[in-house]
Amino acid sequence: MKTMSVFETGLQTLNQAGEAGEINPRVIAILQAPKRIQIFRIPLKRDDGSFQIHDAYRVHYNNALGPYSDGTRVRPGLTLDEVKALGLFMTIKHCATNIPRGGAKGGIAADPGDLTPGEYERLIRAFVRCLSPKGPWMDVPGADIGTGEQAMSWMLDEYEQITGQSCPAAVNDKPPILGGSLGGEEATGRGCFLTLLDAAAERGLQIKGATAVIQGFGQVGSVVARCLHEAGSKVLAVSDIKGGVVNESGLDIPRLLEYVKKTGFVVGFAGGEALDQQDIFSLECDIAVPAAVQNVINQHNAGGVKAKIVVEAANGPITADAEQVLQEKGVWIVPDVIANAGGATVCHFEMSQGLYNHYWDLDTVTRELDKKMHQAYLDAAATKRRYQAPSLRIGAWISALKKLEKAMTLRGWV
Ligand code: NAD
Repeated sequence: MKTMSVFETGLQTLNQAGEAGEINPRVIAILQAPKRIQIFRIPLKRDDGSFQIHDAYRVHYNNALGPYSDGTRVRPGLTLDEVKALGLFMTIKHCATNIPRGGAKGGIAADPGDLTPGEYERLIRAFVRCLSPKGPWMDVPGADIGTGEQAMSWMLDEYEQITGQSCPAAVNDKPPILGGSLGGEEATGRGCFLTLLDAAAERGLQIKGATAVIQGFGQVGSVVARCLHEAGSKVLAVSDIKGGVVNESGLDIPRLLEYVKKTGFVVGFAGGEALDQQDIFSLECDIAVPAAVQNVINQHNAGGVKAKIVVEAANGPITADAEQVLQEKGVWIVPDVIANAGGATVCHFEMSQGLYNHYWDLDTVTRELDKKMHQAYLDAAATKRRYQAPSLRIGAWISALKKLEKAMTLRGWV
C-alpha cells in the first residue's frame, strides 16, 4: 500500500473534520489547496567559485482570518508537499488558538551545515527578495528548522533595505534587540505543558507524582521536561538523536539540562542508565511527549505504548493507523495543532508588539500565552463533546474550521 504524503494525511484530517463538524463543503473545497504557491529557484555563487541553484517555496495557504504568517524551513530535500502541509497546519493552528492570522509556510531546499556563514546569509537575503507580497499586513515569515534568530535578523534587515522603512512587525522570531518578543524560545514547550495540564485535569490524572517520558531534548522537549519536573512529576526517560537515558526514580532534570548544555546530548548522563531510543514509548508511564520528528509513533510501536496521555509537541508524530490503535487502547492524544501552538501564539504577540513598537515584559507574555493555550484546549474539548467527535484532534480541527467558515461566509467567499 502506498504511504500517504504528509499533505495527503492533512487533507484526510481536514475532510474527516469537515464531515464530523458539518462544515460548509465549499469551505472544505477552498481548503483542499493553498490560495497561492510561489516557487523560486535561487542561484548561489559559493565562496570557492562554484555555483548551485536551490529550490525554494512560499505557500500562502489561507488568509480568511488575517495576514499570512509563519516559518521558513531550510533543510536538504525540502519538498513542496511538506510546505503545503505545514501551511495547512498553520491555518488550522492559528484558528484553533484564536489567533487572527492566516496560514503560510516557506523554505529553501538547502543544508545550512554545508554552507559558510556568508553563503547562508546570501541565500536567506535572496529568499526575502523573492517573496511577493510581503510585509506586516501581507505575509510575515518566521523561523523553523534550519533558521533561527540570526537568519530572521538578516530577513528583517533585507526587508527594511528593500522598503526603506523600519518595520519590526515584518518578520517574526527576531532577537528582542531587533523587536522580538520575550518568552519566544520557551513558548512552544510551555504551551505543550499547559495543554497537558488541561488534559490531565480532564482525565483525572494528578500531575504531581505523574510519570513521563520525552523523545527529543531540544528547544521544546527540554522546556517540557523542566516544567514537568517543577510541577512535581517524575521524568523517567528522555531521548535524542544519539540515544536515551532512563531512571526509574525520575531523572534529575536541572542536572541533565546542565549536562546537555555542555555535551549537546543526553547520552552518557551519569544520573541514569542508557536507553535504546526505540524503547522510549514502550516504558510504563502516565505521559509521553514526542518532541522530535514526525511519524515516530507508528504501526510498529503503537501497540506497545503504555502512556495514558500523549502530547504531540512535534508536528505529526503519530501516524493515522497508530492513532487508531492508541484510541482503541483509550490513550488521550493532545493534537499538535493545539499542543505546539505556543510558538505561533508568541509570534502573534511579537507582531502586535512590533506594530506599535512597544514591548511587553515577560510576565505579560506568559500570562497572555497561558490564557490563549487554555482557551484553545477548552474550545477543542467542548467542540469534541458537541459534535461527538472521535478524538480531540478532530475536535480541535472542527473548532478551527467553524471559525474559518464564519470568516469565509462573512467575506462572501462561500
Ligand atoms: P530542536 O532541533 O531544538 O530539538 C530536536 C530534538 O529532537 C533534539 O534533541 C534532537 O536530537 C532530537 N531528535 C531529532 N531526531 C530524532 C530522532 N529521530 N529520534 C529521537 N530524537 C530525535 O527542535 P525543537 O525546536 O525542540 O522542535 C522539536 C519538534 O517540535 C519539531 O518537530 C518541530 O517541528 C516541532 N515544533 C517546534 C516548535 C518550536 O517553536 N521550536 C514549534 C512547533 C513545532
